Amino acid sequence: MTVGRLVESGLLRRDVALAPMTTYRLGGEAAWFAEPADETELAAVLAAAREMGERVIVLGRGSNVVVADRGVAALVVHLVGAFADVAVTAGGVVEAGGGAPLAKVARASVDAGRGGLEFLVGIPGSVGGAVRMNAGCLGTETADVMIDARIVDARSGDVVVRTPAELEMAYRSTNVAVHEIVVAARFRTEAQPTDAGLARIREVTRWRRDTQPGGTLNAGSVFKNPPGDAAGRIIDHLGLKGLRCGGAVVSSRHANFFEADPGTTAQDIYDLVAVVRRRVAVATGVELEPEVKFLGEFASAPGEEAPT
Ligand SMILES: Cc1cc2nc3c(=O)[nH]c(=O)nc-3n(C[C@H](O)[C@H](O)[C@H](O)COP(=O)(O)OP(=O)(O)OC[C@H]3O[C@@H](n4cnc5c(N)ncnc54)[C@H](O)[C@@H]3O)c2cc1C
Repeated sequence: MTVGRLVESGLLRRDVALAPMTTYRLGGEAAWFAEPADETELAAVLAAAREMGERVIVLGRGSNVVVADRGVAALVVHLVGAFADVAVTAGGVVEAGGGAPLAKVARASVDAGRGGLEFLVGIPGSVGGAVRMNAGCLGTETADVMIDARIVDARSGDVVVRTPAELEMAYRSTNVAVHEIVVAARFRTEAQPTDAGLARIREVTRWRRDTQPGGTLNAGSVFKNPPGDAAGRIIDHLGLKGLRCGGAVVSSRHANFFEADPGTTAQDIYDLVAVVRRRVAVATGVELEPEVKFLGEFASAPGEEAPT
């Protein structure tokens, strides 16, 4: 299908606001945007991107990103429809689309009498985002429970299936490239009574409510924890809770969460990340590495090193 046909059909759209698709609820527009509902539509969208010479960036549930105020000069792909499906096989393997919410994966598994994926309810992302980030909480990471992931290369359209070892999944890190789209993943589970699974889900939900700043706009942990320490502990120890750049503020509840007050710009968050990073480096010698992903172009904070 040509680019014109895809635009006519509504699959390919121009200048689409991304803020409502992110947990920070801020930032600009995608130059091009598409919501493919299955692999056939995705293949058509990727072929159009190649025809137009546009870069492709995939957005999951937007819970780990800051979209630049000037927007993203690329084709942003958001997986919907069949990509949000979750199925549990007779052998207890959970098969989930790249766009499936992690909470849906955890609940489908528990409902089918299978355990091991309950920790995923603590992470407000998608399967694709969790694979890309090797997301985890409460001592378990995506890599620990994943069998393999199905990945489409946006540049060639080629499809590969990769194991955690092949993806070099480590703490909040993988070798999934920007032009690679995780379209599905398979997870292993263990037999477990549904009641026990539901109790575990309640525990994880309670942990999240008790430890994280609920009711605020944020993207979870801003920095990765340095080896043997916690980024939040270091930031708190330096007295940086409440530090702000414009509307962006270091959470008083959890110092590794940066919240966005009404009117905050993406640049405010970028600047706050740069300022905190610099202050921590000067005071402790520790170079914190951002966990959040900055999409699009940002200006360097005055007198500060850029965080990415
Ligand atoms: C309140 C809160 C609590 C959080 N708690 C945790 C936690 O406990 N543990 C944790 O690990 N994280 C946590 N996070 C961060 C975030 O939820 C995870 O990183 C999550 O895995 C991101 O998934 P997403 O779908 O939202 O990805 P996005 O934020 O949309 O994208 C993140 C990155 O993944 C890429 N990506 C997204 N989808 C795909 C795909 N299909 N294929 C390839 N690449 C893709 C994007 O291009 C981007 O680079 C938290 C966030 C919030 C807001």
